[in-house]
Amino acid sequence: MASDAKRILLVEDEKVIRDAVQAYLEREGYWVRSVGDGQSAVEEFEKHTFDLIILDLMLPKLSGERVCRAIRDTSDVPIIMLTAKGEVEDRIIGLELGADDYLIKPFSPRELVARVRALLRRARVEAEPQIEVLDFGDLVIDISGHKVMVEGKEVDLTASEFKLLTTLARYPGRVYTRMELVEKVLGYDFEGYERTIDSHVKNLRAKLGDDPRNPKWLYTVHGVGYRFEASEKPADADK
Ligand code: CA
Repeated sequence: MASDAKRILLVEDEKVIRDAVQAYLEREGYWVRSVGDGQSAVEEFEKHTFDLIILDLMLPKLSGERVCRAIRDTSDVPIIMLTAKGEVEDRIIGLELGADDYLIKPFSPRELVARVRALLRRARVEAEPQIEVLDFGDLVIDISGHKVMVEGKEVDLTASEFKLLTTLARYPGRVYTRMELVEKVLGYDFEGYERTIDSHVKNLRAKLGDDPRNPKWLYTVHGVGYRFEASEKPADADK
């Protein structure tokens, strides 16, 4: 990270609100990246590290609900949902999806900044003992560093392969359906994409040197999906 400014991803399709909120947050010393639709939000989130997300609920391309779910599959980053006045149920949905807080439009920028500060403070406290590295002996997954090592050698994975591997390896033994993996890895749920999970798994196995007929880590659950299993339990390493 270039500076120690907290990084915020702002997702809002109404340009007037987006620009105003961005300007206000920047004046408060935050580093802000803003996008106007849900798909771009997921893409930005995959490419960069953020300390907090401000997420509008009603968005073009991919709803705030879907974006929230996609982010929550891999991250505990604080999320503040923005909802229009009267969207009471949407607000509840937002919190059920794992948003940490919500603001009803119209809101004052000062109120938003107060919520941002409070959430960042809370996140810092909760983040203290965080597992950043999943160590399975021969296979080490450095989640924060976005690195995977097999027998001490770094393996070059694509963003999707990395996400697929970390999704499975975070919960060894848990079976994921292809559909779940599509949602978690690709962030959307078109049925046609289930097969792409198979090809990601195939590539991942080739890169890790994991033989599907005699797997060390990635197991096919026939007719269902995949699960991760390792002889070694993840060590609670914090780098
Ligand atoms: Ca909107």
